[in-house]
Amino acid sequence: MQLDKDKALVVFSGGQDSTTCLYWALEQFREVHTITFTYGQKHSLEVDMARSLAAKAGTDFNLMDVSLIGRLGENALTDTSIEMDAEKPADSFPNTFVPGRNMFFLGIAAVWAREHGIMNIVTGVSQTDYSGYPDCRDSFIRSLNVTLNLAMDEQFVIHTPLMWLDKAQTWALADSLGVMDIIRKETLTCYNGIPGDGCGHCPACRLRKAGLEKYLAERHADAR
Ligand code: ZN
Repeated sequence: MQLDKDKALVVFSGGQDSTTCLYWALEQFREVHTITFTYGQKHSLEVDMARSLAAKAGTDFNLMDVSLIGRLGENALTDTSIEMDAEKPADSFPNTFVPGRNMFFLGIAAVWAREHGIMNIVTGVSQTDYSGYPDCRDSFIRSLNVTLNLAMDEQFVIHTPLMWLDKAQTWALADSLGVMDIIRKETLTCYNGIPGDGCGHCPACRLRKAGLEKYLAERHADAR
């Protein structure tokens, strides 16, 4: 099947970043689909929220069970006996790191996209706030894009609208897309599984909150 340049597939978790990307994609492409991966996360609420966000955005919701990747190694996102890191150890990865996660996700997304004639794949990874995850970096995404094209002899385009944005700029993007309220109240970023503003103390909440406060302060200053 020929890939359609007006179709996009968003790798979607229901968090702040991928939900912002979903609305970004809806402005860019005629037809937008989502793909969500479940891999034994502690919080199945995350999947429920992603499903209702996709419905609200008017896109389909395709859930892929890839629990195998959660069983390949130990990490705090899937193993209930491991505490989430308060701080990333200086000399290693945070314990929420799932090795190769974005490689698996994007590889599966590309096969699904090919089956459905979709040229564009959108992911919310960011090098600016990459929190020590190497597969969020631009060099990895570019390399994987080439690899996927070679693997399937296709011309996929992986889009990373947040790659060079910090969290405050990601909030600014959500605001410019008119979805600030949806992102703020209906997404789940918190490692402890609390929607919206979250628990307030896990690393994901602190990053999200600091970005929101910075953006709101800037917006307030601009308005004066
Ligand atoms: Zn939290």
